[in-house]
Amino acid sequence: MLEHEQPENGNIEALKNRLILQELREAKLSAGISKQENLIAALRLAEERCAMLTAIMNSSDDAIISKDLNGTVTSWNLAAERIFGFSPGEMIGNPIARLIPDDRLDEEALIQDRLIKGDKVDPFETMRLTSTGRLLQVTLTISPVIDFSGNIIGISKIVRDITSAKQAEQKALILAAIVASTDDAVISKNLDGIITSWNHSAERIFGYTASEMIGESIVKLIPPDRQQEEPKIISKLKRGERVDHFETKRVTKQGLLIDVSLTISPVLDATGRIIGVSKIARDITDQKLEEQRKNDFIAIVSHELKTPLTSMRSYVQLGLVKALENRDSFTETLMRRAENQTHKMSAMIHDFLNVSRLEEGKMSLSLSRFSLSDLIEEVVREFSPLAPAHHIDYLGGSEAYIEGDREKLSHVLINLLSNAVKYSAEGTAVCIRCELADGNVKVNVSDQGIGISAKDQKRLFERFYRVKADQVRNVSGFGIGLYLVAEILKLHNSQIQVQSEPGKGSIFSFSLSYE
Ligand code: ADP
Repeated sequence: MLEHEQPENGNIEALKNRLILQELREAKLSAGISKQENLIAALRLAEERCAMLTAIMNSSDDAIISKDLNGTVTSWNLAAERIFGFSPGEMIGNPIARLIPDDRLDEEALIQDRLIKGDKVDPFETMRLTSTGRLLQVTLTISPVIDFSGNIIGISKIVRDITSAKQAEQKALILAAIVASTDDAVISKNLDGIITSWNHSAERIFGYTASEMIGESIVKLIPPDRQQEEPKIISKLKRGERVDHFETKRVTKQGLLIDVSLTISPVLDATGRIIGVSKIARDITDQKLEEQRKNDFIAIVSHELKTPLTSMRSYVQLGLVKALENRDSFTETLMRRAENQTHKMSAMIHDFLNVSRLEEGKMSLSLSRFSLSDLIEEVVREFSPLAPAHHIDYLGGSEAYIEGDREKLSHVLINLLSNAVKYSAEGTAVCIRCELADGNVKVNVSDQGIGISAKDQKRLFERFYRVKADQVRNVSGFGIGLYLVAEILKLHNSQIQVQSEPGKGSIFSFSLSYE
């Protein structure tokens, strides 16, 4: 016999005896059979009812507990053991008070008094203690246990543990408060695009109230030329992907076009099936205007700097010619250095102009068919004198004709070469390699420089991103070179890739299809 069976069975026995007595009292003696047979039939019926009640008690998810009027526990089901952590052996015959926190000890007496007076006690929420001293939030449903003469001889309780439900309720309240107070529009919709929730900020940003939008299609907010965005987003979500900071335009109730950044995630049911979509829309109209102003400024300044710089370059070149004629090596060195610096300046200005063109969506390709190896040779020839302290090697030379924008691709190569030089020590090698494979020509620019951490590699191609490390603190730059490289290659249906290890060097590569 298991340790805990003793008291539980003892208790069930008591219950059984009561049921037998009840059956006997109620048993109408059937005619034609002996009194003893009638008694046996009543006994069997009582046993069946008792077995059924025990099964119900033990299969309940709620704790079913009874106690006598002295507060001593008289029955304790399996759920009570699971919820409170005490076995029946530990509880039956012991005071119920061990489950009650000190500050609620008077609760029991009050309830008992009310029941004895014949008052009804509605289910109520309270706190109870487990065997480990953990506080549980519970609902108690209490009823009196009445004997044959109608006297209350005890109390039975059904205890439901609502701790997790309360925690979930609390979480939901906190989430609802966050959603209500955030500056971003938080909108949810079902898979048919019908809006199911709409917070205050959605109202402020789009001008529609919740009652105007809930039940309506999200399409109402999407400008006609962007309607195809919605199905694309849904299919992305169905593939399990999230959409982060997607910049687009939406239309308000007043018909105004506003710039928004959308973060979209799937709403999943308990089985992980996608049942809806939640959207956070941030109004970035002001930010976009600010960016526009910055771009305009960059474009104007770069443009204005171009003319004097071109004149300066001409004067420096004239000075260089004169110095060579006069065999004046001192002036020649100065003029070469000045020329070198004007090259760098015009490359910077060129980059800035390209960034503002890109932002305006005005960067276009001027396509032609040309030999990539010729272009690389030309770039290396022009670039090498600007990096006299490095060995620039070109390996490859396989003839490959490609269709692309020659000037912009030369810009890509110059940017990669100047970075390779900028971020590696003097005297080290920078190598540009060109390989043909599967209809593509792959270009690698490698260096033996400081390398780039995995974390920085993820963000290198963002506009204005610069690595924040002591090693590069004094290296000048604006963090736009690689952004432009990536964007120009995108326009050529290609992609820049990087392999790098801090302290060992980096390889930047891209592929273009050749004819
Ligand atoms: P900039 O060089 O003007 O800062 P880029 O967009 O060209 O901007 O490069 C972004 C960042 O990437 C640089 O600040 C630098 O830290 C890192 N980087 C680029 N190329 C290399 C390289 N070859 N080796 C090490 N770090 C590099």
